[in-house]
Amino acid sequence: MAGTGGFVNVITMKEQPFSLKNDGPLQLFFVGTGSAFTKTNYQTNLLVIKGNDHLLIDCGTKTPQAFYELGVPVSSVENVLVTHSHADHIGGLEELALMSKYVTKRKPNMIISEAYQYILWEMSLRGGAAYNEENAGDILSFFDFFTVTRPAVLNGFDRETLNANVGSINVKLFRTKHIPDSSRDWESSFWSCGIIIDDRIMFTSDTRFDPELIHYYNGLYKLEAIFHDCQFFPGGVHASLQDLSSFDASIKNKMYLVHYGDNYKNFEGEVAAKGFAGFAQAQVYYTF
Ligand SMILES: [Zn+2]
Ligand SMILES: [Zn+2]
Repeated sequence: MAGTGGFVNVITMKEQPFSLKNDGPLQLFFVGTGSAFTKTNYQTNLLVIKGNDHLLIDCGTKTPQAFYELGVPVSSVENVLVTHSHADHIGGLEELALMSKYVTKRKPNMIISEAYQYILWEMSLRGGAAYNEENAGDILSFFDFFTVTRPAVLNGFDRETLNANVGSINVKLFRTKHIPDSSRDWESSFWSCGIIIDDRIMFTSDTRFDPELIHYYNGLYKLEAIFHDCQFFPGGVHASLQDLSSFDASIKNKMYLVHYGDNYKNFEGEVAAKGFAGFAQAQVYYTF
């Protein structure tokens, strides 16, 4: 079975029916594990659950459908964090925002910096959400849909790192180099971030191959698992399987590959042979 090669306890939905709560352990549940345009694995959006607390990291175009099929409407999500503005990460946010405002009459909490909030609202969400559907002529703002938790800038880090808490869940947001494919470093890239959860687990979200990123935070936190995006060809805006294979065995044996193409089964043998923990599985609970 894919994704069971590491040291992490994997619990299925047969053993633990889908819920936004659990008995207390830190659990990661990928709503999907596919690439941006996947037709079979849903998109790589991650639900973090710990006791009564939960956080949805990204809400792509296919994620409201995935939640519907799990038996929980996406408007039940109370906390959300967005890693960047590609549609596989934000395409379902309008549904979350509009359903929450007009149907369930509540505001989800978003963990978001002031800089990225401006980008997300002005360049993406505003087009579909700004016109008040209950009051002609009234123009709405981001704050009409979301309450906001501002992450704090942490000083002394190699790259921009922000810190926030959602109940008992701690997240650190680190900047990544995702787009364009020619950018030299995170500073010259369009705004994107990955996440460290409880100083234990890294989820890169989308990044190009960036060994300094992995080595730096792994050195700081002795990470227990790394969920890294991948692609099966060179170039482009994600880390290629070939590039990721150059990591030491000590990194690869705790590295799960996510955000993979629908043809991933063709690469399962190679991923095992190279010593990776495997492809991450969708809709199981990685339990820490
Ligand atoms: Zn993506
Ligand atoms: Zn992306």
